[in-house]
Amino acid sequence: MNCPGTPDTQPGSQPVSSSGIGGSRRGPVGPEQALAELYDGNRRFALGVPLRPHQDIDRRVALADGQQPFAVIVGCSDSRLAAEIIFDRGLGDLFVVRTAGHTVGPEVLGSVEYAVTVLGAPLVVVLGHDSCGAVQAARTADATGAPASGHLRAVVDGVLPSVRRAGARGVTEIDQIVDIHIEQTVEAVLGRSEAVADAVAGGRCAVVGMSYRLAAGEVHTVTAVGLAAPTTPPAA
Ligand SMILES: [Zn+2]
Repeated sequence: MNCPGTPDTQPGSQPVSSSGIGGSRRGPVGPEQALAELYDGNRRFALGVPLRPHQDIDRRVALADGQQPFAVIVGCSDSRLAAEIIFDRGLGDLFVVRTAGHTVGPEVLGSVEYAVTVLGAPLVVVLGHDSCGAVQAARTADATGAPASGHLRAVVDGVLPSVRRAGARGVTEIDQIVDIHIEQTVEAVLGRSEAVADAVAGGRCAVVGMSYRLAAGEVHTVTAVGLAAPTTPPAA
């Protein structure tokens, strides 16, 4: 990407592409349309009928002078959670920031702010998944009191508040703890990034927490902030 402060393109300055969302220029799509595109792509992937759009030479060349991704994905680094694959998208569609357990630090928040304020992305998705190893590690650390070693401790410490919130609610099942951690991450993005919070308050962006089922290949919405209307399928 270009240096922050040097827009690749002017967001929202062009009409919607005749090929719909995710053309070589995104156009002024809203959060609800962006979310619908992600659900459509995930449905194709889950059913085993992906289109694999925007992965050809023409698309690659067309994007060389700029990008307008329609969604930011703040996801777990788990190798089974590759964003462009599970949402059936291609080059230039998604601005992806991934850390183990989707822990949120300054570099993550700065990356999200760049995508929202400079590139004009209308949707931020926090993406967790069932059986998350980072959440399991944090739960173990909380139960034993033994800190994780090396830099892994930063990951575990980032998840521990969610484990403790789950404990305070009497939640012990790992995938329910994952959902609480997704909620907590959405709160962290909104609470710690004034730029994202302002974009949501101004109706330019929404922040949605999703959980992915590893075996089924399906996502469902855990929490959403800033959507004009509920447009997502109910939780599985
Ligand atoms: Zn994970």
